[in-house]
Amino acid sequence: MIDLHLHLDGSLALEDFEFLAKRNGVNLGKEFPSNVYVPKGCTSLEEYLTRFDLPLSLLQDEYSISYVTKSLVNRLYNKGYVYLEIRFAPQLHTLKGLTQEDAVKAAIKGLKEALKDKKDFDANLIICCMRQADYKTNRESVLLAAKYKKDKVCCLDLAGPEAFKTGDKYKELFDEADSLGVDIIIHAGEACGSDEVVRCVNLLHPQRIGHGVHLELTKENVKLVKEKHITFEFCPTSNLQTTSLPNYESVPLLEFDKCEIPVTINSDNMTVSNTDVIEEYRHLYKTFKLSKDQVLHFLKNSINAAFIPQKEKEYFLKVLDERIDKFYEEIKK
Ligand SMILES: [Zn+2]
Repeated sequence: MIDLHLHLDGSLALEDFEFLAKRNGVNLGKEFPSNVYVPKGCTSLEEYLTRFDLPLSLLQDEYSISYVTKSLVNRLYNKGYVYLEIRFAPQLHTLKGLTQEDAVKAAIKGLKEALKDKKDFDANLIICCMRQADYKTNRESVLLAAKYKKDKVCCLDLAGPEAFKTGDKYKELFDEADSLGVDIIIHAGEACGSDEVVRCVNLLHPQRIGHGVHLELTKENVKLVKEKHITFEFCPTSNLQTTSLPNYESVPLLEFDKCEIPVTINSDNMTVSNTDVIEEYRHLYKTFKLSKDQVLHFLKNSINAAFIPQKEKEYFLKVLDERIDKFYEEIKK
């Protein structure tokens, strides 16, 4: 399996919460562990995002950031994943004196420690800017993505509440990132509609769009995203929980695919959404009766859209061919 859209702070194991709460003197609250999952009856992305406050309160020092990064990689490697891109916003880890750069270095350290003893597996980090943050704070994140791009940071993202529109506001930031040779992802078309996706595609140089499920597949839009070679990162369960989509049937997986727009299947937040990529494939398999070839096709879309060298892509494409029977059996369970 592969996960290209996986937020670190939304994917802590319950044991990570317990361990770090004790270590860092944080009270997890009487409701733990139910307070780490999406709130019951959640009606919006904004409400969903409140579930990041508790994990973030635990992740304000270097040790804790390294620890959870390592823990996440180890868990997914043990589940048979072959490749991961883990994203986080270093600016959200500076409440107790860390700089954004300290946070980035700590995540890199945890990642490298986890990768040390693993074969047929790789993982990289994505630095997120936040929609609600000011220009200066986000620019620091942009410069860190450029500085560490040869050191396990593979790209830059824009995340956070989509009410903070529009693409225009971030143009200068992402122009600079692009000029520095940084690869770019933009969260868009999750809580917002098609126009925001189109604006972001036109203005912010993305190679991938996080979510984008609300892109209207008009002739013009299809031509635009195909010309720009955009891959979409779908995270179905998360979209249902934020009420961005009403049900799995409405995930436009096959519609995008029919237009030959590359779509990938991801978890978004393993803990907040209480899911993983295997579970996401399971839902879509059940909903759309996906064949083994279709599953392999979507997994290959992920490798083709990964920010890794061509040689590594070819290697992982071969690994997928070898493991597809096992993956397919797993999602049929
Ligand atoms: Zn996301």
